[in-house]
Amino acid sequence: MTTTTEAAPETRSFEADVSKLLHLMVHSVYSDKDVFLRELVSNAADACEKLRYESLSNASLLGEDGQPRITVTLDPEARQLTIEDNGIGMSEAELADALGTIARSGTKAFMDRIAGAKEAEGSHLIGQFGVGFYSAFMVADRVEVLSRRAGSNQAASWSSDGLGTYVIQTVDLATAPTRGTRVLLHLKEDASSYTESSTVERTIKSQSGHVPVPILLKDKPDAEAKQIADGAALWTKPKSEITVEEYKDFYRSAAGQFDEPALTLHYRAEGRHEYTVLAFIPETKPFDLFDPDRAGRMKLYVRRVFITDEAQILPRYLRFVRGLVDSNDLPLNVSREMIQESPVLAAIQKGVSNRLLSELEKLATGDTERYLKLWDTFGPVIKEGLYEDYARRETLLGLARFKTTGSAGEWRSLKDYVAGLKDNQTAIYYATGTDLDRLATSPQLEGFRARGIEVLLLADQVDSFWVTSGIDYEGKPFKSVTQGLADLSLIPLPEGETPGAAASDDVSSFIAFVKETLGDAVSDVRASDRLTESAVCLVAPEHAMDRQLEKLLAGAGRLDMASKPVLEINPRHDLVEKLSAAGTDAELRADAAHLLFDEARIADGELPVDPRAFAQRLSRVLARGLA
Ligand code: ADP
Ligand code: MG
Repeated sequence: MTTTTEAAPETRSFEADVSKLLHLMVHSVYSDKDVFLRELVSNAADACEKLRYESLSNASLLGEDGQPRITVTLDPEARQLTIEDNGIGMSEAELADALGTIARSGTKAFMDRIAGAKEAEGSHLIGQFGVGFYSAFMVADRVEVLSRRAGSNQAASWSSDGLGTYVIQTVDLATAPTRGTRVLLHLKEDASSYTESSTVERTIKSQSGHVPVPILLKDKPDAEAKQIADGAALWTKPKSEITVEEYKDFYRSAAGQFDEPALTLHYRAEGRHEYTVLAFIPETKPFDLFDPDRAGRMKLYVRRVFITDEAQILPRYLRFVRGLVDSNDLPLNVSREMIQESPVLAAIQKGVSNRLLSELEKLATGDTERYLKLWDTFGPVIKEGLYEDYARRETLLGLARFKTTGSAGEWRSLKDYVAGLKDNQTAIYYATGTDLDRLATSPQLEGFRARGIEVLLLADQVDSFWVTSGIDYEGKPFKSVTQGLADLSLIPLPEGETPGAAASDDVSSFIAFVKETLGDAVSDVRASDRLTESAVCLVAPEHAMDRQLEKLLAGAGRLDMASKPVLEINPRHDLVEKLSAAGTDAELRADAAHLLFDEARIADGELPVDPRAFAQRLSRVLARGLA
């Protein structure tokens, strides 16, 4: 047996990203420095929960000290604050790994975000990015961590002034805690208020009062510890005993968010399976909502023991929901992998997802204003469910809200839309694009507007995917206004308006000429049903891909061959009639054919086919006009 000797201290450099981050923390100007307490308490609580989980399969880890606890000790004379837990602890290698590098991809995203963030917002971002520990350097000019992994007979220390390097060292067991981690902060001069017990108590109670581990406070190193939080799991209390404020505090500390929950759901499922759900929908978007790796963050507990936050309790399109499920029926001593396959988990997943959607339905009718705000924030994510979750498609279509041509900027449901169908209208019309305002003025909508037909304006990326997935609502298919024939002739015009005349012979032969001139660049040129004011527009051929989807796929490098568009010409347009008139100059007509095509592309937000040739033609035609 070896007696533990103090090995020589070893100085190492932080990873480049960590250094940058630390620089930010050390020179932090964030107004709200209190968050460091929340972050360190949250790490201590996580450590206790990890130990509780590991001890399920290895009871000896707990030893004689089975009661988890976080102790905060103040030392006003030395201007120090210590946070100690009797959780899982870290080995020397884990210390270097956890506090010298950044495991998650969070840093880069955090740095990008914080660079553009306002001062007050900065500190609120910290918890969301998995970089919480480093916030200690907002208030401390030196941080020492002493840790001993549960079940190990070695302890190690880590210390740093946050300026590029840290020192790591094996330490004598005699000076280390029996288990867990002690974080000692040498507070900066202007942070001495964190040695005042009333300040610290108030801050911890409001930020971390509901962590599931009791918190003790000592106002001097040798003072008696006073319990300031009982570690009772909030979700096990009856709803009637919990205040809105308590829910909010819990949400903030559990989710690392700083907003108000837009929706709080707390209930107990009884019957075949018993479990408690406490879930929140945030008010604001988490930064990584559209990160492809972003998974849900609902935590799974079994009889108050934290098991995992990777159980995918909710479908991906509800990944913005925060909270937890505490099951009574899952076996405690089962591995995380086996839990994934458990039919009990499957029942929980189904139950919680359905309940959340039905709460959303209730909110949609009960408090429209709040619902629309929530839809505005998370609608683009929920819509992913329209092609990912066939079984709940109908419910999701019912929840969906849209901006349309007929709604003057208000959100409309499909139920509203269908109630306003025109005689003989058999489809739900939509236009996809990237910008609502531009969509609303696209030429392809003119004929629809003339007939008072409402068109959904779909400007989220996800729209191009679900809307082309063969979906329908109450038997009505979705039809793009930029694809195929508009076929509006069956739908009557408003009283007093007459349908435009069909193309004259002259116009028909001009259209044939344009087609010949453009050749391979288009798949067809034809007289348009859908234009009333503009001269031309582009649409996709009937069985081709939606033009917006094509652009998205091309942009992502996932399109082999784009289909050729159809150029539609408004036979009633003044310009078209003049160009068609017998005797029009052949050269002008040829220039016009190309210019009309380019005009249609520009209206769709694209470049002319050949910008140089376009410029030359335009000059030629303008010069003629002045001659
Ligand atoms: P996060 O908690 O989001 O992972 P942090 O920066 O707060 O990010 O902490 C980094 C890592 O350091 C944690 O994931 C954990 O592995 C380790 N750690 C921090 N504090 C403790 C502690 N008190 N006990 C055990 N491990 C800790
Ligand atoms: Mg943390």
